[in-house]
Amino acid sequence: MLKKISNNIWKLGLDSNLYLLDFDQKIIIDTGDRIKSSVLKLLLPKLIALDKVEKVIFTHLHYDHIGNADLFPNAEFFASKQEIKDFKENPEFTVLDAEIIARMKFLDEKLKPMVNMNGLQTINTPGHTRGSICLWYEKDKVLFTGDTYFGGNIETGVNLCVGRTDLPTSISEEMKKSLEKVKKIQEQNKNLKLCPGHDYCGAD
Ligand SMILES: [Zn+2]
Repeated sequence: MLKKISNNIWKLGLDSNLYLLDFDQKIIIDTGDRIKSSVLKLLLPKLIALDKVEKVIFTHLHYDHIGNADLFPNAEFFASKQEIKDFKENPEFTVLDAEIIARMKFLDEKLKPMVNMNGLQTINTPGHTRGSICLWYEKDKVLFTGDTYFGGNIETGVNLCVGRTDLPTSISEEMKKSLEKVKKIQEQNKNLKLCPGHDYCGAD
């Protein structure tokens, strides 16, 4: 279930996908579904001690991407400003600890490389939720899309599934523009590796 994506990036399937970025800082993107916590506790420590994770970045705050956040006691948590606002207004069905919500930090650095995160860049991609983001790691041409894409092959378009936009904080009218942003990156970067939020569509 652990899969190597590049030299210093790994993927762990937890109903939604968790990604570990073994950069200068140890970064996790999304923390999977709570029901998969035993899988996380069993497999992720093969790569990193959980208390050594320094940053957790959420592509968005749906329950199946934020379960297990409490397993990273020393991490700082990030999501987009819009996502945190929407989440605080309606935390129904949440599996995120109130203490973690309180110390969540905004991440709205549109396409700006993040200092100390090996140049990881944030792209605001509203659609699946109003505050959804993608993360772009140019050096290895890895694009983390959260649920902007559920899965599939972005190069060939085979089985490529766009995330649903009929959920409470979805904004379907923005999805087209967000996909165009992602498409542009893909066109400029051959052999881009898509790291979607799920693998619903026969990905990889
Ligand atoms: Zn979602």
